[in-house]
Amino acid sequence: MNLTPLPAFQDNYLWLLDDGNRALVVDPGDARPVQAALQSAGLQLEAILVTHHHPDHIGGVDALRDATGAKVWGPARETIPEPVTRLAEGDRIEVLGLPFTVIDVPGHTSGHIAYYCDLFDGRPLLFCGDTLFSGGCGRLFEGTPAQMLASLDKLAALPADTRVVCTHEYTLSNLKFALAVEPHNAELIHYSERCTELRAQDRPTLPSSIGQELRINPFLRTREAGIRQAAQAFNGTDPADDVAVFAAVREWKNTFR
Ligand code: ZN
Ligand code: FE
Repeated sequence: MNLTPLPAFQDNYLWLLDDGNRALVVDPGDARPVQAALQSAGLQLEAILVTHHHPDHIGGVDALRDATGAKVWGPARETIPEPVTRLAEGDRIEVLGLPFTVIDVPGHTSGHIAYYCDLFDGRPLLFCGDTLFSGGCGRLFEGTPAQMLASLDKLAALPADTRVVCTHEYTLSNLKFALAVEPHNAELIHYSERCTELRAQDRPTLPSSIGQELRINPFLRTREAGIRQAAQAFNGTDPADDVAVFAAVREWKNTFR
């Protein structure tokens, strides 16, 4: 099985997963790079998995469905180009012979879902859309901090070796902020150096893993004493209030340059 990031727009990745003959694509915001990849590798597109309704995630859905007849799966509670088979928490689907379980992760949008496969080349795999990024998380366009914290808690509870397949290459700017929050996190300093090297060679920093993110991502670490204190120093938030600390760190990131 191959898992390939197709760069699109400024910083999106359209993830293609294939077995040499058949393929699935996640969040195809643009049909063209997907069609080019299918043609050059001689792949048949069987399925399109959509995590949420933003244009950079669904812009290519109609063109790809029309061109290939691929089946489209998407969130139960969002507006996605029809026909789409709608999914919510706990639903199980099989694509390319792989079993995926759906996880509701509201926050970035109110109906955002993630796709989790516990059996992919010996390690679990998570397609998390714009919910979890390496070193960061999605902006709260529709959901509340409490919803996003609960969503990230669900993802954080997945096995540490789960590959985290995110849809944007935001890692370096996320890590710049993460270092402002936790300047003494040695693992974060090391990871940041590695990612800087990868980007200098124009290579993706993704996929990450749940274990890696637990060590470096401030949005999965808001219960750490150092981050509670940093949030309090930022805007006087109550360091004992989990949701308030998460909200403060999210707000801090929104204004960080
Ligand atoms: Zn989005
Ligand atoms: Fe996006």
